[in-house]
Amino acid sequence: MNTPMKFLADATLAGLARWLRLLGFDTVCVRGEAGRPLMRQAAGEGRILLTRRRDLMERQFSGRLLLLPDAATVKQLSFVLQKLSLEIQAQNFCTLCLSCNQKLVSLERESVRNLVPEYVFEHCTAYTRCPQCRKIFWPGTHQRNALQFLTENGIDVTQIRQSQNI
Ligand SMILES: [Zn+2]
Repeated sequence: MNTPMKFLADATLAGLARWLRLLGFDTVCVRGEAGRPLMRQAAGEGRILLTRRRDLMERQFSGRLLLLPDAATVKQLSFVLQKLSLEIQAQNFCTLCLSCNQKLVSLERESVRNLVPEYVFEHCTAYTRCPQCRKIFWPGTHQRNALQFLTENGIDVTQIRQSQNI
């Protein structure tokens, strides 16, 4: 069994980190400059270090590092998926908080009655919440738009679209 790959991104890659989380890839984003402390943390937590700093390649490092091109965020995402042969899995879509990287927890529909807009409550039955920031999530147009955007940029999310029926 392969354990799923986990990532540590430096602060310049916050946008990429959000996309990876949307697809369910555990990605910690660390404030501040990429350097020795980040390399240590990545190696210690078994995370692949994502960075744009070429000079880090020349340092001694016991972990794994992926040097990203200076490109649009979606191109970087595409690069990571290809380079590491990551498989996009429908069941992992929208399982992590985009801000906190925490695993979202399912909520009973009734428990969100007063917490979400009324039209959302009427139309939606599945809700999740981030245990850290307490934000509530539900399937909606933002997810559809995100998948549309990925498709337009050559990232194959067919499996997700079929399973979500969007
Ligand atoms: Zn959160």
